[in-house]
Amino acid sequence: MPRYHIPDEKQVVEALQRVMSTKREVHSQRSLKRLVEKELEGEMLYKVGEVRLRHLAIDSGLVNLQIHVRESGKTRTMIRCPVCTSRLKRVRNMTVYGGTVTLGYHCGRCGYWTGLKHRVPTRYVFTRRG
Ligand SMILES: [Zn+2]
Repeated sequence: MPRYHIPDEKQVVEALQRVMSTKREVHSQRSLKRLVEKELEGEMLYKVGEVRLRHLAIDSGLVNLQIHVRESGKTRTMIRCPVCTSRLKRVRNMTVYGGTVTLGYHCGRCGYWTGLKHRVPTRYVFTRRG
């Protein structure tokens, strides 16, 4: 039974950098996780959580994130970004009566957006930045 180690932030980001220097595009979060774990592997085996990896990838500035979504058809108020947990900004429009109406939400950190019909992230594509 192999023992797995949890890499620290620096190890993950450095491994990510090496992965993205050989790949232009990684087409899913699971593939990126496997590639990063493989990159870290040496004397020891490593495990990195997919959500943690996504957050570190966003913070690293090394990748552009393409978010694939499906529309849930449900309308609801949203506070936090489902992709990176940042606070979402409301996208508003002026009404003819001088008030405002919420059209949807936007995340300034990772680029996720949704209309009032909630867009549920289903897949992430990571591409090399620059
Ligand atoms: Zn976000």
